[in-house]
Amino acid sequence: MPLDKVAPTDREVPSLTSRIFRIIFLVAFVTELICVLVMSLILVQALEREKQTELSTEATAFVQTLKATDDAKRAALMPSFATKNLRVTWIDEQGAVLYDSGIDGVVATENHSNRPEVIAAHKSGAGTAKRLSSTLGEVTYYHATQLDDGTVLRLAATQNNALSALRGLLVPALLVLVATALIAALIARRLARRIAAPLLTLNLDEPLTNKVYDEATPLLERMDEQKRRIATQAKEGLATRREFTANVSHELKTPLTVISGYAELMQSGQARAEDTQHFAGLIFSEAEHMQELVEDILIISQLDEEEATFTDERRGSEEQGVSELRGDERIELVDLDKLASDCIYRLTPFADQHNVSVSLKSEPELLVRGSKRILSSMVYNLCENAIRYNKAGGSVAVEVAQQKENVVLSVTDTGIGIAPEYQERVFERFFRVDKTRSRETGGTGLGLSIVKHAAAYHGAELSLTSSPETGTTVSVIFAANAQ
Ligand code: ATP
Ligand code: MG
Repeated sequence: MPLDKVAPTDREVPSLTSRIFRIIFLVAFVTELICVLVMSLILVQALEREKQTELSTEATAFVQTLKATDDAKRAALMPSFATKNLRVTWIDEQGAVLYDSGIDGVVATENHSNRPEVIAAHKSGAGTAKRLSSTLGEVTYYHATQLDDGTVLRLAATQNNALSALRGLLVPALLVLVATALIAALIARRLARRIAAPLLTLNLDEPLTNKVYDEATPLLERMDEQKRRIATQAKEGLATRREFTANVSHELKTPLTVISGYAELMQSGQARAEDTQHFAGLIFSEAEHMQELVEDILIISQLDEEEATFTDERRGSEEQGVSELRGDERIELVDLDKLASDCIYRLTPFADQHNVSVSLKSEPELLVRGSKRILSSMVYNLCENAIRYNKAGGSVAVEVAQQKENVVLSVTDTGIGIAPEYQERVFERFFRVDKTRSRETGGTGLGLSIVKHAAAYHGAELSLTSSPETGTTVSVIFAANAQ
């Protein structure tokens, strides 16, 4: 995985303890809040009931006293009923205030006939009412009783309301909250440790043998699956590497035997003077072949490491025409027409030698984002094969075209073709259909493997159609977003 694909991990992850703490505390806090609200509501109602009962008891007592008093002396008696917390108002039948003990030193003089408690008292003998005071957070309760002479005696008392009830609960509530926080922290720490303990002692070698929680089973299954996958990959990787090393050694051995054989002949003086030049030529061509082989191996190893690193999001974010480096590779917009014509030019002597004609048909300005070097090696290998496995007088047609969203490069030859059973295998490393023949023609079986890796590197698809009668076509299909 290339480094630039790794997501940033500097985000802070909350600990299990703090997560549990937050949950417990939140639940406790909400519960407490609801409790406090309900309690103050109940409290307010109880206080209200108590106050009204108190007022009515006092009123009954006063009415008894007044009944036993002469009408004329009643007015004199009124002030004796009033206390600091109890306001006494005497109202005549028309609502005029006959006496008022007042509130905070203010005495009422206006007509009281429209007060609900007074109206109720006229109607049914007694009436109560509750009004918010001008002072915030206070409620005044009224109790009015009609006397036998038609006048009304009204008692009033002021009481703190819900707000003050809440205020009273504030300190205990805060104390409970602090205690809750402490307990929550304690529980959270213990719980987190308990939950984490079995996870910390997991047997990672055999994930499925662990007995943890039901909820952890998917995780354990995934671990097991990954473990198996890694093991299989490692095994496969080892096998591929072994095979590759064996193949490389084998491929190098043949030219080396030839080289050392002729060199030995020349060194020992057994070679005739007129043969020396011929032998040197053979040594030179084998050495050249080895050089090509080593170059191919290097390309394949490099592509192996960088396999398909074109991610969609990167393609999207790149600006057209700007070149960048990926590893050692320069990534830029490559003109396939120009690239193909360069390859064909380089292969002209090779084509002449095989008596094969090569043509190029291309729409101009078909650009593909990628590495010029790798793409060039891909096209070169395809054209080289098309010439090498052709018939004398045959032809090769290279075509670059836009097909719907894609850019397609295809190389078609009129050569010997590939039998259906080999058509997949030709992309394997060191695979050659006809070992002896291609050995003579100089092939090592790495060309199409390079093509396959190069296509994967560019996120392109490969297709091969071939028949021994008509020849072979290999197409490289570049996805739209690789352009
Ligand atoms: P190298 O390309 O490494 O020099 P090579 O040509 O033998 O060697 P590949 O290019 O990988 O190796 O091809 C593998 C085999 O597939 C070839 O040996 C040949 O038998 C067969 N092949 C490839 N291209 C064609 C083609 N256009 N027509 C017929 N056979 C082909
Ligand atoms: Mg080849």
